Amino acid sequence: MNKVILVTGGSRGIGAATAKLVSQKGYAVCISYNNDKLSAERLRNEIITSGGIALSVQADVGIENDVIRLFQTVKNEFGCISGFVNNAGIITPQSQLVDMDIERLKKIFNINIIGSFICAREAVKHMSTDSGGEGGSIVNLSSAAARIGSPNEFIDYAASKGAIDTMTLGLAKEVAEQGIRVNAVRPGLISTELHADTGDANRPEKLKQYVPMKRAGTAEEVANMIVWLLSDEASYVTGSLFDVTGGR
Ligand code: NAP
Repeated sequence: MNKVILVTGGSRGIGAATAKLVSQKGYAVCISYNNDKLSAERLRNEIITSGGIALSVQADVGIENDVIRLFQTVKNEFGCISGFVNNAGIITPQSQLVDMDIERLKKIFNINIIGSFICAREAVKHMSTDSGGEGGSIVNLSSAAARIGSPNEFIDYAASKGAIDTMTLGLAKEVAEQGIRVNAVRPGLISTELHADTGDANRPEKLKQYVPMKRAGTAEEVANMIVWLLSDEASYVTGSLFDVTGGR
């Protein structure tokens, strides 16, 4: 039987690259999305056409009942998950903190922090050996922004990822005896559509001069690290934060 991986925000970018790679490695994969049904269904069909097993589910990670329904749907369709990629996230337009209004702050913290916490909670309930699961691996998507702070761009986004780092450190210790490993990947400047939402789709091209390797990374380069953390090759790795940043 195929092992099952759930990737939130799997319709585009890093999540989509991860979904393709886990499928190539023989896992059944469920991708979730929020708005972009077309991209999600295109990717699901691509995986199935290549001989893989895939499902796509609409679920806003900012809505608790959506997240509960998402995990239940995967369980009904595919059985127990063995890996969860806590990937769905948003970024904010470039701004200084002094100009940030409360609606902006509520939105970013709700999706990036509360959404990721609720998703991690459901993943633990489904995977924990204490509740009849088979254990597994959770990979949280943080960001190098968590340690850089992103001044004059999006301190709120950076802080939301700082919360993901802290959650990773604590949760790894809470669930280690329940057969679950928890790690975070902190990408640097990666070429995806995310940057358009900062107000500057060309951001990776402009900022690559500050990366020691002098280029932006690809979604596939981040997916390689995520998939390794999901695998048994990482069986003694938990509570760790992994930078994929070209040295930045
Ligand atoms: P992306 O290309 O913008 O894709 C984001 C994905 O998340 C899409 O599938 C999107 O689905 C989904 N999503 C957004 N809001 C959602 C919500 N409320 N509920 C459910 N799904 C939602 O982003 P990416 O660059 O691949 O980033 C993936 C993760 O890596 C994020 O957590 C991001 O913060 C982190 N990261 C990215 C970079 C980078 O440079 N790209 C760097 C560091 C960290 P829809 O299209 O359907 O809305």
